[in-house]
Amino acid sequence: MQDLTAPFIRIEGVGESFGQFEALRDVNLTIDRGEIFALLGGSGCGKTTLLRMLAGFESPTRGRIFIDGQDMVDTPPWERPVHMMFQSYALFPHMSVAQNVGYGLKHEKMTRAAREARVEEMLDLVQLTPFASRKPHQISGGQRQRVALARALARQPKLLLLDEPLAALDKKLREHTQFELMSIQQRTGVTFIVVTHDQEEAMTLADRIAVMDKGVVRQVGAPTEIYEYPNSRFVAGFIGAISSFTARVLRVAGDQAEVEVAEFGGSFTARATPGLREGQEVTLALRPEKIAISKTRPEGVNVIPGQVKDLAYFGKDSLYRVSLASGALLSVHAVNARRAGEAGRPADWDDEVWLSFEPGSAILLTE
Ligand code: ATP
Repeated sequence: MQDLTAPFIRIEGVGESFGQFEALRDVNLTIDRGEIFALLGGSGCGKTTLLRMLAGFESPTRGRIFIDGQDMVDTPPWERPVHMMFQSYALFPHMSVAQNVGYGLKHEKMTRAAREARVEEMLDLVQLTPFASRKPHQISGGQRQRVALARALARQPKLLLLDEPLAALDKKLREHTQFELMSIQQRTGVTFIVVTHDQEEAMTLADRIAVMDKGVVRQVGAPTEIYEYPNSRFVAGFIGAISSFTARVLRVAGDQAEVEVAEFGGSFTARATPGLREGQEVTLALRPEKIAISKTRPEGVNVIPGQVKDLAYFGKDSLYRVSLASGALLSVHAVNARRAGEAGRPADWDDEVWLSFEPGSAILLTE
């Protein structure tokens, strides 16, 4: 009997070499049924290679891949419960929207009526019923994306692989389509694996993210985990903005560590990470929105004086570059006035200011 508690996908020690070049090294991942899982990384990190392996277009040089409890080593692409949606959508220009959606069903053992019913159901799912008889060039980019999605889902795959699914859309449409994609995934319950180089897209769409770098998975976790608890300088820098400073560990007490930061001029309290040693050189990383800026000196620890050098006002928030006595610059992202009548922003150009941060939001990185 099928073990429903076992992970839906298990990638075990997978590696891929193209001649001397190692495109993937010892990748180990488990992905649950019904998850949206993102493979995130820069160009050439191996994410597409991994996706193609799941589809069966590429075989791993080392390691094994299980889908739904079955070893995929000898399973050709067409026998896998998987469908891949390409970045280009690969729609047939001479076919109507409905014909494109039904194309993959041609070789299924289905009656014509059942096929037509499935196409109707899929068009309804992606809200394209009124466009059924149009050709791809007669619909918008976002609609074409939905046709490709409907075609991919028509064959009822257990796993849908999406290669940069939103890359061809402009920014506004992309945001809207992200939510649509999530809603369609929820309604169908199909497991989605999405390849993207866009960290915001991964953060919005995915239940969990694998951050990849040079063929290696650097961290796997929920978006909040990756953002709040990056395990390395690479992950911290890849996801969102962050400022990094060299620090030396003075003392570790429970979940906090006292560190000396030369550029801040003194000692500061940060969140301890496992295995910290006294005297160790580490990186203290701070996200711009975790730093408070004020013209009056706040109470408590982790207070640094500085002067506003640059300011970008965005209406609802402002981005500051504040120079410290050491000459170092710190980026601060602050929300502007929340109430009517308050001054528009907490500080102005050239203002002498106080910066402060909570110990829990200062990340210490050893790798
Ligand atoms: P991108 O976002 O640019 O598509 P990616 O992370 O998807 O990047 P992959 O396409 O997986 O990267 O490629 C990983 C590395 O393996 C790249 O350096 C690429 O040049 C190399 N590579 C991929 N396929 C082959 C191949 N068939 N032969 C040789 N090298 C390859």
